[in-house]
Amino acid sequence: MISFQRVSKRYAEGHDALREVSFDIAKDDLVFLTGHSGAGKSTLMRLIMLMDRATRGKVLVDGVDLATVGKRGIPGHRRNIGVVFQNHQLLFDRPVFDNVALPLVIGGYDYREVGRRVRAALDKVGLLSKERAMPLTLSGGEQQRVGIARAVVCRPRILLADEPTGNLDPELSAEIMRLFEDFNQVGVTVLIASHDLALISRLRHRILTLKEGRLVNGGVA
Ligand code: ADP
Ligand code: ADP
Repeated sequence: MISFQRVSKRYAEGHDALREVSFDIAKDDLVFLTGHSGAGKSTLMRLIMLMDRATRGKVLVDGVDLATVGKRGIPGHRRNIGVVFQNHQLLFDRPVFDNVALPLVIGGYDYREVGRRVRAALDKVGLLSKERAMPLTLSGGEQQRVGIARAVVCRPRILLADEPTGNLDPELSAEIMRLFEDFNQVGVTVLIASHDLALISRLRHRILTLKEGRLVNGGVA
């Protein structure tokens, strides 16, 4: 589903954020991406989302070489990818429902379909009773679950999470990880960037490790 073939990324000022990175993630995989701050994790995710482009090498998503996707193809490409951030990036002046509905409203879905899909997504993360709540009245774990509901509301085939448990205690972190495992069980490819080595090693999924832009574990030669 996601394939990197000797991918390098050099930023304008000459810094190599990724160096010859190669790996394959299959459709039914849940994979952790780890490495110190500055190792290149966010850069790798930005390339998958086409927020940035590789300097050298090939990135393929669902068989499509991203070099062939032009500006106009980017929204269609991103519709297949749900993204979860550490700080949720929720709209705090809008209730839970509106936050989760946002990608559908942008996508031009009709009113009834928005309601149906938002409730299906909230149900999956266990927040159906909170649709009218304002985000600030929710706990950190609940806010993160709103972020996950928003990420899956368009039913993406790939879910990317950048430090999704960074602000949560171990118990809530485990709960959030179980949610990702649930989505993975129904066929969503999941890639999670995380520093939380204790949690990652307990979960026994595949681990890709970046060190100064090089993949030092979990890749292919
Ligand atoms: P991580 O997510 O693992 O912390 P990043 O992918 O954010 O790592 O960063 C990898 C390296 O690339 C770092 O040295 C960072 O300073 C650099 N970098 C990231 N984004 C940019 C950018 N837009 N311009 C220049 N350098 C960047
Ligand atoms: P519908 O297919 O009628 O829109 P749902 O949105 O509730 O209904 O999803 C139906 C099934 O598809 C559920 O079992 C759900 O877990 C699964 N599913 C498959 N892919 C995804 C995805 N990307 N996000 C959420 N659910 C998904």
